[in-house]
Amino acid sequence: MTTILRLIRFAFFFACCYAVNAGAVELATRSAARNRLAVDGLKAHAAVLSDDTFEGREAGKRGGRAAAGYIIDKLKSYGLHGAGPEGGFLQPFDRERNNVLAQLPGTDPELREEIIVVGAHYDHVGYGNARNSYGPYGYIHNGADDNASGVAGVLEAARVLAELKAPLKRTVVFAFWDGEEAGLFGSKHWTTHPTAHLHNVKCFINLDMIGRLRNDFVEVFGTRSAEGLRKLVTDANRDEQLVLDYKWELRDDSDHAPFFHKNIPVVMLHTGKHADYHRPSDDLEKLNFEGIQRVSRLTMDLVFNLADAEKLPEFRQLSKQEAVSEAARKAMDRPFAAPPSRLGISWREEADESKGILISSVQYNSPANKAGLRIGERITKWNDAPITSDESFQKFVLLATGTVRLEVADRAGATREASLELRGEPIRVGVSWAEDDAEPASVIVKRVVAQSPADRAGVLVADRICEVDGAPFASAAEFEERLGTMEDELALTVDRNGILLKFKLKLNE
Ligand SMILES: [Zn+2]
Repeated sequence: MTTILRLIRFAFFFACCYAVNAGAVELATRSAARNRLAVDGLKAHAAVLSDDTFEGREAGKRGGRAAAGYIIDKLKSYGLHGAGPEGGFLQPFDRERNNVLAQLPGTDPELREEIIVVGAHYDHVGYGNARNSYGPYGYIHNGADDNASGVAGVLEAARVLAELKAPLKRTVVFAFWDGEEAGLFGSKHWTTHPTAHLHNVKCFINLDMIGRLRNDFVEVFGTRSAEGLRKLVTDANRDEQLVLDYKWELRDDSDHAPFFHKNIPVVMLHTGKHADYHRPSDDLEKLNFEGIQRVSRLTMDLVFNLADAEKLPEFRQLSKQEAVSEAARKAMDRPFAAPPSRLGISWREEADESKGILISSVQYNSPANKAGLRIGERITKWNDAPITSDESFQKFVLLATGTVRLEVADRAGATREASLELRGEPIRVGVSWAEDDAEPASVIVKRVVAQSPADRAGVLVADRICEVDGAPFASAAEFEERLGTMEDELALTVDRNGILLKFKLKLNE
């Protein structure tokens, strides 16, 4: 073999290794990042910020300023750059309030101009009063969950991403807002006095109260603000498998609101209100740190998805209507009415399977009605095949095409043959679906036919199908086309509350 050939082969081998390694590196970076986001770090931040010495971190008060100081020290120790005015970490604004901002510059020559902001408010209500507390007033409200938990999550994510020198394509800004409790003043100030071009901000991830995870349940707000945003969140949830409750409504109750009103896509993660909300009892010992770790890891994976995506979706105006009206969501959630059954009877399974099925009702003008089937009669054979169970009968009805010959036994036991054509198309898969323009690369299951392959596999109404045989599709039309090419079996991946589930469907059994 000539030297040149040997050289070419070596170069090719090296290129392959590098390509694989590139994906492997990104994957390695992600899992390394996830593993390094530690409970100890989260505990340390939450313990400091929710300590009485910070006097409930009221905006513009010494406790609030001390908290800002603590956060800046941490960000500096991670080697991050400031993202405030003149590259500093602090963005002062009215009445001695201060936003704290840091950034991890992107590496891609073009995409690094685009910015992903991930943030949390660090202020709380101080000693509490009639306007901001459920009481008792006058006691330090340490705000361990609201929102030392969110700040701890963002700080740990910032530390890990900075330490890993994670080669993210887009720039990530870590933002710690002041004045949220008094009226979202910090985030409002930054979105009206941004320290980066606002039109370059492609998404804002808001962590507010992530400290009380119960039953793996996380409320996710804002994903309808951009096409395919839910898909990016669900994908980021592959490892943590949290139960994500995707909300349509979006209130002006936390720092995502000023971004949303500036037409910037937003995602807010929240583990739910509780009895200690805005009370002096919102304390450290009530936090679920494993829960904070899991939500923070999900956040970090979402940052990876957003910072490295080829292209990010634009803001979706329709989400503004959806945010304030339940109507659209209710319509989307409403399952399709059951179609007229193909045969037009209801039946009871006979105890003795050899006796077939017993007709318990016949729909007027249905194929069964027109063929003269009556209540109390039994169907014992289907195209000469004995009916051995309710299931086998269901499958016959679902898959039948053309003319069917039934053996029918009357109440006296006399048998006769009845021929008929069933209504509608054979049901090979057994799902009906609807499109959702906010998530074009998925379809929503609106009906599952009993005993159909989809039903037997475990697909449920409201599941979002997002892959066929492990491959995504770009639209409902492409999904339908793919379904049409399936022969004996297919695998469907569904997004059910943010968890991806795979189902194997056997089509002709
Ligand atoms: Zn809060």
